[in-house]
Amino acid sequence: MSSALKAKMRPLVAVLSPEPDVALGTQREHSVPAGCSCCYGTGMEVVPGRGARRCECRKKEDRATLVRQARIPRRYEGCSLANYRPAPNNGSQLQAFNYAFKLIDEYPAIDRGLLLMGTCGVGKTHLATAILRGLIDKGVSCLFFEFGALLKEIQDSYNSVSQTSELKVLAPVYEADVMVLDELGASKPTDWVRDTMMQIIGTRYNNRRLTVFTTNYLDARHQPADDTLEDRIGVRLRSRLYEMCKTVVVEGEDYRRRFDSV
Ligand SMILES: [Zn+2]
Repeated sequence: MSSALKAKMRPLVAVLSPEPDVALGTQREHSVPAGCSCCYGTGMEVVPGRGARRCECRKKEDRATLVRQARIPRRYEGCSLANYRPAPNNGSQLQAFNYAFKLIDEYPAIDRGLLLMGTCGVGKTHLATAILRGLIDKGVSCLFFEFGALLKEIQDSYNSVSQTSELKVLAPVYEADVMVLDELGASKPTDWVRDTMMQIIGTRYNNRRLTVFTTNYLDARHQPADDTLEDRIGVRLRSRLYEMCKTVVVEGEDYRRRFDSV
């Protein structure tokens, strides 16, 4: 990373919040219900003659914590690979499904995320949240953010005196093992937006954390007036995404329209 780029990023350096953030995957605190009849609140279940093992109550709690921390929007809560239905004869949706399956299956032995590209309503966010679901089941710390909402939270937490943004917003974004950034390119591409996107994505990349992106913008222009993804996020960030993600183009008709009458 060039020093000019680093200097540009300085305003976003995070300040420590006074209390440890519960959203931090690395600082998961446990409070085991004392009433558990298996482990009597110790979190370890004694198996006579064989030793001790992690109690089911603790495993359930871990999963519930991971689900809560992932912040998957309610409308996508039920999305899984099991209920993703590629449209008949749609090779691109089937291929996208296969990549999602492979990512869940092979994680953490995988070093590139996914960039799911395609027009509205082809199931990109369904697949992206299904990936988080599958990884949560493997005990991986995950986080979902719609990119515009994340930028707004960073902006709202920005302190003009210290010229920093709150760690409370940024720490989970930097710490989550796998993150979905939904709707890349949807925000008006100002310099601040581009620099902030670059910093977030670059920091996750440098920390070897996996990111799955969805975007409604494509690389190719179908109409002269179309914006490409590169128009929206800049050349530098688009080329960074080539390094850190497998690009998967998802095609199809808008399923929201398809199911409108249901
Ligand atoms: Zn227990």
